[in-house]
Amino acid sequence: MSNMLTNWAGNIAFTAQRIDRPTTLDELRGLIAASARVRVLGSGHSFNTIADTDGTLVSVAGLPPEIEVDRAASTVRVAAGVRYAELAREVHAHGLALPNMASLPHISVAGSVATGTHGSGAALGGLATAVRELELVTADGELRTIGRDRGGERFAGSVVSLGALGAVTSLTLDLVPGFELAQRVRTGLPLSALDEHFDAVTSAAYSVSLFTDWRGPHFGQVWLKYVADQEPEFPWAPEAPGPLHPVPGMPPVHCTQQQGVPGPWHERLPHFRAEFTPSSGEEIQSEYLVDRRHGLAALHAVDAIRDVVAPLLQVCEVRTVAADDLWLSPAYGHDTVGLHFTWLKDTAAVLPVLRLLEERLEPFAARPHWGKLSTVPAGRLPALYPKLADFRRLARESDPQGKFTNAFLAPLLDDARATNTSPS
Ligand SMILES: Cc1cc2nc3c(=O)[nH]c(=O)nc-3n(C[C@H](O)[C@H](O)[C@H](O)COP(=O)(O)OP(=O)(O)OC[C@H]3O[C@@H](n4cnc5c(N)ncnc54)[C@H](O)[C@@H]3O)c2cc1C
Repeated sequence: MSNMLTNWAGNIAFTAQRIDRPTTLDELRGLIAASARVRVLGSGHSFNTIADTDGTLVSVAGLPPEIEVDRAASTVRVAAGVRYAELAREVHAHGLALPNMASLPHISVAGSVATGTHGSGAALGGLATAVRELELVTADGELRTIGRDRGGERFAGSVVSLGALGAVTSLTLDLVPGFELAQRVRTGLPLSALDEHFDAVTSAAYSVSLFTDWRGPHFGQVWLKYVADQEPEFPWAPEAPGPLHPVPGMPPVHCTQQQGVPGPWHERLPHFRAEFTPSSGEEIQSEYLVDRRHGLAALHAVDAIRDVVAPLLQVCEVRTVAADDLWLSPAYGHDTVGLHFTWLKDTAAVLPVLRLLEERLEPFAARPHWGKLSTVPAGRLPALYPKLADFRRLARESDPQGKFTNAFLAPLLDDARATNTSPS
């Protein structure tokens, strides 16, 4: 019988037979060893069925929320279920920083890393690129440590893992010295300005996000997050007269401070304040990531169908991510541009628009975000992820019985051991 637990957005009802929330590592190990089919749940912010299972859903949120900063090594070891907001506060208290954060700080560290979650910044990798080591409980209940220094190829395959290799219990992340950022919002950047200045615009600051509702060929807002005493020249769009929310018409009180007021990195990198706790979301999200060289062409492809996209859209955000070598990372192998869409919460109406978008973005080999809604068929994934065959091998080695497989992963792993094969 289903427990009717849903994801954060409420668009997915998990079908798990039971839900467990172990409070010790030994309890977690015992549970996994004893389960025939199991998936790990982070903070439940994904928009598709990636975390679902027809067996046992194990939340890591009950494990001790340890955060151990090693100042000398400039690293932090953090329990898997800790959210970025708590992690960032502790790291900041030690005078250190994470290089980047996602738009919302309420998401769990392990869940974010597992799905290749990213922020924006032409020179900044996705959140998984900060991982130096991870500990995970594999299908047999054993605790394994995989590190960047010793793990070689296995490490590159194990970080963005989609939860297919085991239950991550802790991660050790690289830190950088603490820094201050300021944030300014510019308004009304025409798409045509990107034709000539795409690189200059997207690299103008430490982190740059472009927002559009696609009601016209322009970006209503450009968010510039810059190192506090290095305000960039930005001749392409004027400054906003006051603070803004990225979704037109929404109040800006939940957004991080704007108008150039300097502040600590973790109070500027996310778009939304940690004190603002969204319990559920009236939205659905999708995102497609393309090689940076195709970023501009991909934007024009979306502009060509904006009449179809705009009516269902709350906002679209364009971000950049630096290349990495993590096998299933959406930025694997090339600098990347992410085209993110926050939709109205109407899955039936959104799905046909996704199909059209995906058709238009196909020439750019767009990779769908692992944690967001897409209809890209699993059969297309080997062409998008050159290391997918190696990942499949790794998953079979770590989990020979397919304990961590579910209906979302089975087609992607080319594994028939799940009950059905719907993509989302
Ligand atoms: C409001 C909002 C804003 C967002 N902003 C961004 C953004 O700025 N950038 C971006 O890229 N994405 C963003 N996302 C997407 C989000 O980062 C991903 O969905 C991410 O996976 C959420 O983490 P989670 O802990 O909620 O994962 P869950 O949804 O709980 O799980 C996702 C996957 O991770 C696996 N997993 C979780 N914990 C573990 C573990 N301990 N061990 C092994 N596997 C595990 C699960 O099995 C599942 O496969 C946003 C989502 C929301 C709702």
